Amino acid sequence: MKAKEAPTAGSEELLRLQVNAFRQQIPLMYGVVCSNAFALGWTHFDVAPFWLSVICPILLALVSALRVISWWRVRRQVLTNEHAKRVLRSTHIFALVLGASFVSWSLLMAPLGDAYQQMHVAIFMGLTSFACATCLMHVRTAALLFLGVALVPFTYYYASSGNFVLIAIAGNIAMVAGLVIIVQDRYYRDFSALAQSRAEARQLHGDMAMLAGADSLTKLANRRRFFINLGEEITQASLAGTRLSIALIDLDGFKQVNDVHGHSTGDQILVTVAERLRAVVDNDAVIARLGGDEFAIILAGGSNDAELRAHGLALCLALREPIPVGNIVAQIGASVGIASYPDKAKTAEELYECADYALYRAKNEAPGTTALFTKAHKGRIRRLSMIEQRLRAPEVVDELSLVFQPIVDMRSGKAIAFEALARWTHAELGPIPPDIFIRAAERSGAITRITQLLYVQALRALQDWPDNIVLSFNLSAHDLVATTSVSQIIETAALYGIRPTRIQLEITETALLKDFDKAKRSVERLKLAGFRIALDDFGVGYSSLSYLHSLAFDRIKIDKSFTDQLDTHDAGRSIVRTIIDLSESLGMDCVVEGIETERQSQLAQRLGCKFAQGHHFARPMVG
Ligand code: C2E
Ligand code: CA
Ligand code: CA
Repeated sequence: MKAKEAPTAGSEELLRLQVNAFRQQIPLMYGVVCSNAFALGWTHFDVAPFWLSVICPILLALVSALRVISWWRVRRQVLTNEHAKRVLRSTHIFALVLGASFVSWSLLMAPLGDAYQQMHVAIFMGLTSFACATCLMHVRTAALLFLGVALVPFTYYYASSGNFVLIAIAGNIAMVAGLVIIVQDRYYRDFSALAQSRAEARQLHGDMAMLAGADSLTKLANRRRFFINLGEEITQASLAGTRLSIALIDLDGFKQVNDVHGHSTGDQILVTVAERLRAVVDNDAVIARLGGDEFAIILAGGSNDAELRAHGLALCLALREPIPVGNIVAQIGASVGIASYPDKAKTAEELYECADYALYRAKNEAPGTTALFTKAHKGRIRRLSMIEQRLRAPEVVDELSLVFQPIVDMRSGKAIAFEALARWTHAELGPIPPDIFIRAAERSGAITRITQLLYVQALRALQDWPDNIVLSFNLSAHDLVATTSVSQIIETAALYGIRPTRIQLEITETALLKDFDKAKRSVERLKLAGFRIALDDFGVGYSSLSYLHSLAFDRIKIDKSFTDQLDTHDAGRSIVRTIIDLSESLGMDCVVEGIETERQSQLAQRLGCKFAQGHHFARPMVG
C-alpha cells in the first residue's frame, strides 16, 4: 500500500488560509449571482416561460441563502485541518453544480427575445462567470472547474451560431477567460508562497517561545521552564520552611482521540485543557505542559493533604467535562499524581519522580482520580529501583528460571502445550513475582536480555518434550517493537533446531497498543516464519475487537477475570460465550485461563471452549 504523504506545515497553513479567505467572499459571490439572475429574469419576463424567468432565480436565491446562512453560522469557528478539507471538497462540488445549472439556464434563455435580450444573456453569462471565478480565486481548482463547466459549452454555443456578432462575443469571452486564468495562477502562486512563509514564521515563533520557556501551543510554561521554576520555589520554601507540592496531570484517552481525529483536533483539546487548568488554579501558580498530554502545576504554600486531594479532585472534574472540537465532542479525563516537599522529597527531581509514581498508581488503580504520594509508596519505589539495578547484574543468568503450566484439551484432559512462566529469586531481595520484575525490566531496558535468557531456557526444555507438545512463551511489549528482538526469536529457534510451529508466542493487547504498526509488522513477520501467535489476557484493558480482525491470531486466551465470573455472573458467562463464538468465526482457538474448580471447567466446556489452563488442571511446575 502506498504510504500516506504527511501534510507539511505549509500545506496545512495554505489549506486554512484558503478557506478563511474564501469564506469572506461568499456573501459577495452569492449576492452578485442572485442580483444578476434576477436582472436577467426581469428582462426576459415577457418572452420566457414563468418557471424559467421567475421560479429559477427564486430557487437560486433560496439555495444561495441557505449556503450563506450555513457559512455565517460557523464564521467564527476555528478551523481544524479536517474541517478545512471538508469545506474545500464541498466548494468544488458546489462550483461544479453552480456552473452546470448556470450554463443550462442561460442556454435555455439564449434563443429567446430580441437581439438586446439575447445580448443580455451573453453579458450575464460572461460577467457572472468572471465574478464567481474572482470570488473563488483562493481555491484555484474550484475557480477553474467553474469557468470550464460554465464557459466551454456557452462559448461553443455562440461560436457555432453562425452569427458574426455572437462569434465575436464567444471569442472575446474565451480570451478574457484565458486572461483571468493566467492572472489567477500568478496570484495563487504568491498566495501559497505567503502561506509557506507564514507557516515558517509560526514555526520560528514556536522555537523562540520554546527557548523563552513557553509551550508554543498552549502558552503554558514548558518542561525546561517548569524545572527552573520548581528549583527556585524549592529554594524559597526551604528558606521559609514552608511546604510545596506539585501535581502531575496525565490525560486519559487523549491518544485515542488524537489518533482517530487527527493532530489538529488533538492540539485544540490540549489548548482547552490548558484553559481549564488556568481556570481551576490560582493566578500565580506555575502551570506547565511537560510534553505530549502531560501537564504539571506547582502548588506553593502550606496545603495539607485534604486540601491537596480537593485540588486534585477539582482538576479531575474540570477535565472530565466534554470538550467540543469542530464537529465532535471529545470525552477525555485526567489522572493526577501529587507529591510534596519537604516531607516526601528533597530535590526537584525527587519531587517529580514521587509525583510521577503517584500518577502511575492513579492511572493503574483508578484512572480519572488523584493519588497522593505516601510513605508506603516511598518504600515501594526504593524496592523497585533495587529490583531494576539487580536485574542488570550478571548473576541474573543463574537466578532466573522457568516453570511450566500445561494448557489442556478439556475433552481428553491431556496437555497440548506448556506455558513458560518466569521465576526470579534474588539472594537478598528474595522471590520477586514475575509481573513485578518483568515490568521493572521493561522500564530499565533490561527486558531484551531477560527475554533472551528465558527463551533459551525454554527452548532447551522443549528439546526434551514430545514432538506434539507446543511451547507457549510470553513476549513483552518491548520485544515486539524492537526488530532485533524479533530477529533473535527467529534465529535462536533455528539455532536450537526447533520448528517455529512448535512455539506459540503470547502477546497482550497492551503490547499491541504501545506501537500498533510496529507490533503488527513483528507479528506478521513471526507468523510468516511459522510461529503461532496467541492474544493473552483477552478482555482486560482496551479489548478492542478490531485487533482480532486486523491481526490473524491463532489463539485467544480469555483472561482469568472472566473465568472467575463463570459461576457467579450471568453477564460474565455471556461475555465468555461471545468471545468463544467470535474466535470460532475468525478461525481461532480459545483458551480459558485460570480455571480453579471443576464447575468452572464444566461451564467453560458447555460454552464451547476446547482448551483451558489453571490450577484445577495443574499448577506451574518445574520443567
Ligand atoms: P499470564 O501470562 O497471564 O500468566 C498466567 C498467570 O496466571 C501466571 O502467573 C500463572 O501462574 C497464573 N495462573 C495460572 N492458573 C491460575 C489459576 O488457576 N489461578 C490463579 N490465581 N492463577 C493462575 P505468574 O506466573 O505469576 O505470571 C504473572 C504474569 O507475569 C504473567 O501473566 C505474564 O504476564 C508475566 N510473565 C510471566 N512469565 C513471563 C515471561 O517469561 N515473559 C514475560 N514477558 N512475561 C511473563
Ligand atoms: Ca501468558
Ligand atoms: Ca494470561
